[in-house]
Amino acid sequence: MIREIQAKTMLSHRKEPDPWFGVKYNMNIYRGCQHQCIYCDSRSECYQIEDFNDVLVKVNAIPLLRKELASKRVKGTIGFGSMSDPYTPVERKYQLTRQALEVIAQMRYPVHMLTKSDLVLRDLDLLKQINEVFAIISFTLTTADDDLAAILEPHAPLPSARLRALHTLAENDIPCGIMLMPILPFLEDSPDNITAIVEAAHQHGANYILPSFGLTLRDRQREYYYQRLDEHYPGLSEKYQRTYGERYQCVPANIAALQQHFTKLCKHYGIATRVPRYTPPAAPAQLSLF
Ligand code: SF4
Repeated sequence: MIREIQAKTMLSHRKEPDPWFGVKYNMNIYRGCQHQCIYCDSRSECYQIEDFNDVLVKVNAIPLLRKELASKRVKGTIGFGSMSDPYTPVERKYQLTRQALEVIAQMRYPVHMLTKSDLVLRDLDLLKQINEVFAIISFTLTTADDDLAAILEPHAPLPSARLRALHTLAENDIPCGIMLMPILPFLEDSPDNITAIVEAAHQHGANYILPSFGLTLRDRQREYYYQRLDEHYPGLSEKYQRTYGERYQCVPANIAALQQHFTKLCKHYGIATRVPRYTPPAAPAQLSLF
């Protein structure tokens, strides 16, 4: 169900930019996400989204964003996509992400976008404009296998479509890369999967890949994940329970070997393993009167 709501604020801010993406201000125009990835952390109780099938649309997002940005003293990177994909399908109708990018372009703020959707290409004109300051686009890819992704991320565009979108952005000189996370134990933790992703990233022009091997599981997110595993992979949720119990961090047994394999491949292809950061322009030197 789609519901329109009025938000009280749009931007949450951090004292220091976050260590992963260098994001200073976070915004989520939608609550809930139609991509419905079976492992999505936003189902966790702490986020208080009662029904993750509902998408709440913050219809007053644009005037709020404009007002909040006008009052900011520090120009830091605005991050999209921490809790809901900015290009969840309902964006086709509401175009709020596009309108937010228009405001950001006018006010000359840097941006980092995290998405699983090739709909981002619709906004290429604005991203080019924002990239005069700084724009960076990260596509989440947990597998290069379209068939597996159709089970794990049932309503998100397929990895092949994400990679094609990445290629187009790279051809347009927009810095872009891959979030290789989560890597699901027993489903995606093979060296072959890591090889396939790194090679595809290289072929499509990715500047960086940021990895995290494993996944986090808690309360109702875990419940939902296990229900979906039971549907598609009978016996696998029991294997998770035997291996990880109530643990939050579920790390593959071969994590050291995977990390080593990943690092070697990235080095071979010259792909960075960190997301580039926005650096504010240096203040002009004071002119001496004498
Ligand atoms: S795209 Fe991201 S926010 Fe949306 S369901 Fe998947 S993991 Fe969750």
